[in-house]
Amino acid sequence: MDSYQLISRAETTHNLTEAELLQILQDSKTDPALFAAADRVRKKYVGNAVHLRALIEFTNICRNSCSYCGLRCQNQAVTRYRMNVEQIYTLAQKAAQWGYKTIVLQGGEDPFFTAELLVPLLRRIKALGLAITLSIGERPRCDYEAFKQAGADRYLLRIETTDKALYEKYNPGMSFENRLRCLQDLKQLGYETGTGILVGLPGQTPLSLAKDILFFKHLGADMIGLGPFIPNPDTPLKDAPAPQLLPALKVMALTRLLLPDINIPATTAMETLEPQGRQKALQCGANVIMPNITEGEARVNYALYPGKAAAAQAPQNLQEQLAQNLKKIGRYIGTGYGGHPPQRHC
Ligand code: SF4
Repeated sequence: MDSYQLISRAETTHNLTEAELLQILQDSKTDPALFAAADRVRKKYVGNAVHLRALIEFTNICRNSCSYCGLRCQNQAVTRYRMNVEQIYTLAQKAAQWGYKTIVLQGGEDPFFTAELLVPLLRRIKALGLAITLSIGERPRCDYEAFKQAGADRYLLRIETTDKALYEKYNPGMSFENRLRCLQDLKQLGYETGTGILVGLPGQTPLSLAKDILFFKHLGADMIGLGPFIPNPDTPLKDAPAPQLLPALKVMALTRLLLPDINIPATTAMETLEPQGRQKALQCGANVIMPNITEGEARVNYALYPGKAAAAQAPQNLQEQLAQNLKKIGRYIGTGYGGHPPQRHC
């Protein structure tokens, strides 16, 4: 079967084998057909609404040393910060006032933020009527359980790559099995579970990407975040080849074909790579944007990779600008919580 036929079949069956995914990933002539099919599936299953998640990056302190990440503990070039609980709560309040329905609390793996500290904060934030997404890395199951009981709804934990050897090479001291354990715990505890990968890591192959996409389906992921790998000059991978948007868009489009109704953000890394990167992503399967509402110096110092898009944009102006840009491509800001599975009329 040629790649056009495979894409057409996947648009209705939402299934592809590893070999079929590999064929499409390696076939550049069918890219426009792939993107168009992903856009149709996105429209059919999750509509034209784009759900916003207000992103609060509350600590850039991390105990880990992932080779691709500017927040790795060995990086002395970044100014470290840690918000206190009141600062985080105040930002959450602002998000609610600005009309956001969901906040994402994101940070490095910072041992300061124990479950004892976070649980009362989550309860207070929940009382604001917000859906809460956590993105704070690997924790014991009991922590995940406590966060869920305190009101957390969703959890993002990227697998980064399902190639175990590559994972352990770029995440020294971390265990692939523990990563999987965390994701399974999150699913079992009833979180809307998000995972995802970096596309373009040195040594990553198209076959590895095909396996990643099948992993998303096998996990029953509710959200998938895909970022093109952008080398950070203060990391061991600083000399990696120049990043490309296209492979990340292809993985995104295939993910939309196989998991038709999940939430897929157009990530900041895509916008950083190309000025129209976010818009392109929204037309290749994405239906979520995570505006960064972190304020002040913290906004600049959450330096996962260089040149993060919108680092200088005033948080309160973001929604208006987004609404205008979305209108140009026939999309609009969703008014509901934008959960998975999708609700009608939100
Ligand atoms: S990727 Fe996450 S866990 Fe790894 S160093 Fe960066 S912030 Fe820490």
